[in-house]
Amino acid sequence: MRVILAGYNVESEMIKKAGDEFGVELTPEVISAAYARISRDPRNVDTLRKEARTRVEKARKSNETIIFGLGHSSVAEHAVFNFDIMDISRLAVESIEHFRLASYTEKSQRYIRLGRDFVVPQEISESEYRDGFMELIEYLSGAYEEVYRRIEGAGEDKYVAREDARYLMPLATSAQLGMTLNARAAEYMISRLASHPLQELREFAGKLSSIAGKVAPSLIKYPEPTEYFKSMPQIRKRFAGNAKRVDDDGKMATLVSSTASGDEKLAAGLIFSSSSISYFAALEKARSMKKSEIRDMICETLQLIKPHDSVWREFENIQMLFEVRVSASCYAQLKRHRMATQIVQPYDTSLGCTVPAAVKKGRAVSVFRRAVDRSEKFYRKIASTDRILAEYVLTNAHRRRVLLNMNLRELYHFSRLRSDTHAQWEIRDLSGELCSIASSRYPAGTMMLSGKDGFDEAMGQLLNK
Ligand SMILES: Cc1cc2nc3c(=O)[nH]c(=O)nc-3n(C[C@H](O)[C@H](O)[C@H](O)COP(=O)(O)OP(=O)(O)OC[C@H]3O[C@@H](n4cnc5c(N)ncnc54)[C@H](O)[C@@H]3O)c2cc1C
Repeated sequence: MRVILAGYNVESEMIKKAGDEFGVELTPEVISAAYARISRDPRNVDTLRKEARTRVEKARKSNETIIFGLGHSSVAEHAVFNFDIMDISRLAVESIEHFRLASYTEKSQRYIRLGRDFVVPQEISESEYRDGFMELIEYLSGAYEEVYRRIEGAGEDKYVAREDARYLMPLATSAQLGMTLNARAAEYMISRLASHPLQELREFAGKLSSIAGKVAPSLIKYPEPTEYFKSMPQIRKRFAGNAKRVDDDGKMATLVSSTASGDEKLAAGLIFSSSSISYFAALEKARSMKKSEIRDMICETLQLIKPHDSVWREFENIQMLFEVRVSASCYAQLKRHRMATQIVQPYDTSLGCTVPAAVKKGRAVSVFRRAVDRSEKFYRKIASTDRILAEYVLTNAHRRRVLLNMNLRELYHFSRLRSDTHAQWEIRDLSGELCSIASSRYPAGTMMLSGKDGFDEAMGQLLNK
């Protein structure tokens, strides 16, 4: 066996220095081009790579033929970029982090005291809303400070004050993040965001395109907006017009649909992967088992699990579709769970707002509500002509509905992180609701659902069953 380290990501300043010193063009296209040729060239991959390195223009041509000509697109995934992203709004970050095949690390509003850093969207700075926007931001920043002081004054520590006062910050607040993604994902992100109705995201797409396109022109080949991507906001507007509003039941999480007889299907999956019988036969066998036998079987697969281990892939046989109602603050965390399918609605002021318990304890509810009301009033003004743009002036306390499609394996992972004491309280509440719904439906499959802190207790119960 031979394993060679073919490459790894190094800061672009260092790459430029090395390229200048040796008088060579350093590009990740070389790796993609070499790997693209593996399937048809009898030579070793390290030889292909060395050749691609000395003939960059040929490597680019080969990428174009193989990736875009033949449609062998996964080859572009071997080239990876890192981007520092600053002075971008929280609202724009939601659309960026919508893309699942990328890695993000974001400066948390939870751990820092926020200043008055916010983005003024071009559509607003060039409109009649500019002054109202600046006044609102100033007002919300003042209210944030006041709520922060009152929470601290009520005896809570600064961490609680930071965590909860930020519910008042607008979605125009500036964010910072590091993003890592491969060239295929980058090209898709660029084309989608270049088609976005918000100027801030189109500008972001333009920047990504020019930076990544310069480094790897043969891999970022179709960064343009498309009519298809651009059409969706208009289509959504028409659909919204046809949909009849019904009262919200006020629940944080509702199960919309889920796998029938899931514990049996999980057991059938375990039988299937352990045997050479068909899935139908495995399901027959699981159906003939007593509930206690299924439980014992699942116990056996989990008895050596540790808090950081994931459960087996067979747990993905249980699928659940939830409708959840969360604040923007909670959604900022929820959206990071890339393995779940999430479909969001726009923010909806009729869903009310989330008022943290610490705000009540700090006797700051009236300050909080006044600020939220003021944000909503301005939101309505802008939304009368542009609902998407208007979201910049909503706060972290405003809510939206999310359709959350998760399998049980992902829910295990979610609960380890989000039912844990380190988790922020609102997403911990959400995790608790999702786990309790799942446990009532699948008592055997969910035996070890818990936060990391509850793991030992759950294991104790599992072993005593
Ligand atoms: C207490 C706490 C504090 C946090 N603080 C911050 C913070 O300050 N800033 C911040 O940006 N985020 C923060 N996060 C979010 C965190 O970094 C994760 O983004 C989030 O919890 C989602 O977890 P995940 O990536 O494991 O989940 P998912 O995206 O659902 O992935 C599930 C699993 O799939 C695998 N997986 C998915 N994608 C990849 C990939 N590209 N490469 C390799 N494996 C992959 C991993 O095994 C992963 O655990 C915090 C989370 C917690 C719980």
